[in-house]
Amino acid sequence: MDLGISGKRALVCAASKGLGRACALALAQEGVHVTIVARGREALEATAAEIEKLGAGGTVAVAADITTPEGRAAALAACPRPDILVNNAGGPPPGDFRDWTREDWLKALDANMLTPIELIKATVDGMIERRFGRIVNITSGAVKAPIDVLGLSNGARSGLTGFVAGLARKTVGHNVTINNLLPGLFDTDRIRGVVGAQAKAQDIAYEAALAARVATIPAGRIGDPAEFGAACAFLCGAQAGYITGQNWLLDGGAYPGTF
Ligand code: NAD
Repeated sequence: MDLGISGKRALVCAASKGLGRACALALAQEGVHVTIVARGREALEATAAEIEKLGAGGTVAVAADITTPEGRAAALAACPRPDILVNNAGGPPPGDFRDWTREDWLKALDANMLTPIELIKATVDGMIERRFGRIVNITSGAVKAPIDVLGLSNGARSGLTGFVAGLARKTVGHNVTINNLLPGLFDTDRIRGVVGAQAKAQDIAYEAALAARVATIPAGRIGDPAEFGAACAFLCGAQAGYITGQNWLLDGGAYPGTF
């Protein structure tokens, strides 16, 4: 299926590794010119080189923290008029809400709610003028089924979800859609770190800790980031113009609800 977005420009945040990287690769495979942003230069440049090999050309790598005003300014200077925006950043740490200070909350809100909103604000009017725009926010399955130790994530991402639900209905008339992708368990550095820490805490092998997590997933396996990237590319495609304000759960059936 040709997604009809060859030659478009995308800004993909937090994209040197994991899910952001998978989205950038999938878009580049469709002929999109991709600007990727991440903090660490080494992994960023390795991913940029991989994207460039796909042949779309025009790949730009910006080493910046997307959760800071300076980082967002650098990203937007490199890609001032994106047709596609993929919002992503690292998730907040786990913990008990009794220990979280106002500063901890502001950090989570900045990273997982206000940063995407700022980037939407900076780019959506240009998309509306050009009558094409696709915005995808990487959130979390925690938006549908909260994870108790991730209260900062449950709260901040739900705030973004509520905001997007309203705005997505105002932009779609201009062929600008805004949707959220909710990952369940995907095989990324972050998840390898989380599962590794669980294995250590329980004094069991990494494989045993992973098997215990996978046992809760009807698909019987962890997700491949490439599957996530493919869903993102589809939502960014020309054919997806009638899909907006949606929360797509990609979790191998782990969420048990009917809706
Ligand atoms: P990852 O650690 O594998 O990759 C994160 C990427 O984001 C890296 O490229 C890193 O450099 C970049 N990054 C992080 N913070 C940044 C910042 N402030 N500015 C710029 N770049 C930044 O993580 P992942 O597994 O791909 O997760 C991506 C997002 O999805 C996170 O918010 C995570 O909480 C969420 N999530 C992931 C899963 C999963 O199964 N992988 C599940 C639920 C939610």
